[in-house]
Parts: sequence; C-alpha cells; structure tokens
Amino acid sequence: MTNSVLHAQLQRSIKGQVCFSEPMSKYTSWRIGGPADLLVKPRDEEDLRQALVYAQHHALPVTIIGNGTNLLVADRGIRGMVIKIGPGLANIEIHNHIIRAGAGAPLPLLARKAMQAGLAGFEFLAGIPGSVGGALVMNAGANGCAVGELVRQVIVCDYAGNSLIFEADELTFAYRQSCLARRNIIVAGVVLEGKPDRVEEIKERMELYLARRRQTQPLEYPNAGSVFKNPPGDSAGRLIELAGCKEIRVGNIQVSPRHANFFVNLGGGTAGEVLEIVQRVQNMVEEKCGVKLVLEVQKLGDF
Ligand SMILES: Cc1cc2nc3c(=O)[nH]c(=O)nc-3n(C[C@H](O)[C@H](O)[C@H](O)COP(=O)(O)OP(=O)(O)OC[C@H]3O[C@@H](n4cnc5c(N)ncnc54)[C@H](O)[C@@H]3O)c2cc1C
Repeated sequence: MTNSVLHAQLQRSIKGQVCFSEPMSKYTSWRIGGPADLLVKPRDEEDLRQALVYAQHHALPVTIIGNGTNLLVADRGIRGMVIKIGPGLANIEIHNHIIRAGAGAPLPLLARKAMQAGLAGFEFLAGIPGSVGGALVMNAGANGCAVGELVRQVIVCDYAGNSLIFEADELTFAYRQSCLARRNIIVAGVVLEGKPDRVEEIKERMELYLARRRQTQPLEYPNAGSVFKNPPGDSAGRLIELAGCKEIRVGNIQVSPRHANFFVNLGGGTAGEVLEIVQRVQNMVEEKCGVKLVLEVQKLGDF
C-alpha cells in the first residue's frame, strides 16, 4: 500500500491531523529535517492508541517526537510514522502539591502554572523549550535540578496501544538519561510533586534563570540547545572554546560565538552540515583536550 493510501485511511480513523510527506524542519527547533512519510498529531490518548495500532497492523516503524528541541533529523527524513505529542495531550491539573501533566504540555507553561499555585521545584524548566514527555525521556535539567527528581508516576503507552503506569521507584534517571528512552514506550503523562513556597520567591528565581539564559544563549537563531553532554566535572562549552572551535562554520551551521555548545543554523543549514561540524569539533576537542565529547541531541531518521 502506498503512503498516500495509508495517509487517507489513517485520517479516516483518527480525529487529529495526519500529514503525508511532511517536512520535519517544521517540527524541529533547528529547522532541519527532511520529510516524514506520515506525521500524526493525536488529539487525545485514544487517537494515540489508534495511530499505534494502525502502525503495528501495517508494520510501519514508529518515531515519537515532542517539541523537537533536542533533535537532529536526517536530510532524507524519517520512514514510517512520526507521532508528534503536542497540544492534544497537554492538560495540566494541580491539586495541593501534586501536578498531573500530559506529555505534550510545554515545560515553560508547566513552570508558570506551578509558580502560580505556589509550588517550587519547577523554576528551572521555565527556559527549556521542550515538552513534558521529551523532558522525561531526556531527564532535562538545569541549575542543578533535573525533572526526574520531581516524578511520582509516569503514564506510558506501549506500541500495541496498552497503558501502563510506572511508580517513581520503578524508574531510573541519570544525567540526560532515563529508562523511559526505551524504544517501545511512549510517555503519555506524568504525576509530579512540588514543594510549597511563596509565589514571589518562586517568581524571582524563575526570572533570574530566564535572564541568565537570555544573556548566554543565542536564542535569536534556530538551535537545539546543548549539542554535547557535559563530560563529568567539566563543561562541553569550555572544552570547545579551549580547543579553538568557537565560531567555526560548516555551510550554514556555526558554533555560536555566544555559547560554544550551541550550534546555530544561520539559515538553510542541513543535517549533513551539522554532522560535519560535530565531527570537526569532536576531533579538535579530543586532540587538544583528550576528551571525546558525546552527543546530547538525538539523531532521528534516515542517516
Ligand atoms: C534554546 C534551548 C535551550 C535548552 N535548554 C536545555 C536545558 O537547559 N536543559 C536540558 O536538559 N535541555 C535543554 N534543551 C534541550 C531540550 O529542550 C530538552 O532536552 C527537552 O526536554 C526536549 O523535549 P522535546 O519535547 O523537545 O523532545 P524532542 O526533542 O522532541 O525529543 C527528544 C527525545 O525524546 C523522545 N520523546 C519526545 N517525546 C516523547 C514521548 N512523549 N514519549 C517517548 N519519547 C519521547 C524523542 O523520540 C527523542 O528521542 C534546550 C533546547 C533549546 C532549543
């Protein structure tokens, strides 16, 4: 069956939008990535399940994305079905110290709602442009905090469409790593716990963190945040500068003059150019500093 027939058939069975041969550059913060054969935007959990069952029935490989802020998608795109977890699964409910959030909820909104409810612990998320699901899979963190520390329960869906709940003690999180990164699991929602605090104090911390980001990050250009993980006890940005890589450029991708671990897309950059600059920086840092930098951004698709 051709992709256009699959597209029409799937669109009839779900409420959310199904796109055919959709450029992934529209869904990544780097503005890079070729076409996904099929891209599904589920409107709710039932839609998500329907899409998964459909993919399994037609033996389509499934790729999950959130806000696409930590992704390098191949120039040739992604074969099979991409499911974008977004506004259809983005509810946020707060009762006492507990927050229930859908995987598609944006982290800055979650941080703001927690602040308004007088719950501390979420301030560091205000400047991270990802979704709740992406943050759990990556164990996103900043300012000495990471999202895994706030988790009480995670609600997931397996690729057959079954729901499962993991309690905090069944989950493991480490620096930019989580057991949820398993290929056959989709994060649908989470239960988080905050600590009561004064709204004004939470707000002050949040604004301080945001101001620091505006000063140090090249937010005016498309980017994917930190390209490399920090090696233990060091910072990737410091090593990249030390190795003399700041401002090097491959095609339209440049090591940011403002933050050496951010590689900015000056306009029309490609995944091929990112891979080339990544390789050059890795080689130079290894030669000069003896450290092999490891990618933090996730490569998806047909490389
Ligand atoms: C300007 C900028 C600043 C940033 N600052 C930080 C920072 O301070 N700290 C930090 O840790 N990160 C930072 N990031 C990186 C990024 O925002 C985080 O890693 C974020 O958590 C990724 O979320 P996402 O929804 O964009 O995930 P995506 O990039 O869409 O996906 C990331 C990974 O998670 C998987 N995934 C996404 N959603 C789901 C789901 N529901 N179920 C299963 N798998 C899923 C994807 O398959 C992929 O492997 C920054 C990025 C930018 C652009």
